[in-house]
Amino acid sequence: MKTTMKALVYKEKGVVALEERPMPSVQLPTDALVRVTLASICSSDLHIKHGSVPRAKEGTVLGHEFVGEIVEVGSEVKKFKAGDRVSVNVETFCGECYFCKRGYVNNCEHGGWELGCRIDGGQAEYVRVPMADQAFTKIPDDVTDEAALFNGDILATGYWAAQVADLKPADKVVVIGAGPTGLCTLMSIKLYSPGQVIVVDVDDERLALAKEQGLCDVTINSRTQNVEEEILKLTNGRGADRVFEVAGAKGTFETAWKVARPNALVIIVALYEEPQVLPLNLMYGKNLTFITGGVDANSCEEIMEMVRSGKIDTSCLITHKAPLNDIMMGYRMFENREDGVIKWVVTPYEEGREERK
Ligand SMILES: [Zn+2]
Ligand SMILES: [Zn+2]
Repeated sequence: MKTTMKALVYKEKGVVALEERPMPSVQLPTDALVRVTLASICSSDLHIKHGSVPRAKEGTVLGHEFVGEIVEVGSEVKKFKAGDRVSVNVETFCGECYFCKRGYVNNCEHGGWELGCRIDGGQAEYVRVPMADQAFTKIPDDVTDEAALFNGDILATGYWAAQVADLKPADKVVVIGAGPTGLCTLMSIKLYSPGQVIVVDVDDERLALAKEQGLCDVTINSRTQNVEEEILKLTNGRGADRVFEVAGAKGTFETAWKVARPNALVIIVALYEEPQVLPLNLMYGKNLTFITGGVDANSCEEIMEMVRSGKIDTSCLITHKAPLNDIMMGYRMFENREDGVIKWVVTPYEEGREERK
């Protein structure tokens, strides 16, 4: 048995590194040890790297979106066993506290976003996963690791956003941001077939992808078009019924409430790196409802079923794939959006192969 493994570590603000770390092991009877078969780099990893996630701890192995095979479980784990193929929920939760009992598992009193943030995560060969009975979704035999990869994080996020939006058949919906989470939000919105879906981004390639995939009716490039004017034109001068803010970029929060019609719902999915301004004086009488949230891991089994039945297909997100050896190159390319990267997917470490940066 190996005593060390390779893992991507958050060292300090601005610095991550691929390092040799001790092999994790089952420590509590409710733990499981997982061999990671596929992981991804997420925008939230970059937020940690930039020092803008206050709960993140230096020295932690990053990675909170991954699938793998269970190697060992503690004596109190009942729902899973060694050999199970699983997707891992980004949220660690007990299932029994005040918040868990009400379905608010991301605010669990004993957990929340822990993996790859406060405790070692999945950009590694192996990972210890606490509270294992709540931590996984079994991957059915006819679902590939790739198809299941986004279940516990960005797809859970997009699915939550669509669920809380109370979508109606005639709704005109705006989604700001066609990055990985924006696309997952669009895929989830499609399940409700609203009247018109308008997607806004700065990147023509991403907008084209959303269109090609049949995820929207209209695209607007906010670099070259006036977003507010275009949306007013498309909505009889009223504004959108539902707005999803998934970009988290400069000015996108402002766009979100401005393009919403009076009495609209504005769903804030983005994780911001800076404080946002809510100018209540300017929106007096507009009667907006804002919904904010972190990743919700309540519906992962339902989502897996959507993936299995083909109602959700995230394969278009995977633009790059390379072993853990190359993860530093992955961070560089993902951060700088090189080569049209949408999702950088990490396969297991290959001994004796060079580590590209
Ligand atoms: Zn994430
Ligand atoms: Zn709890």
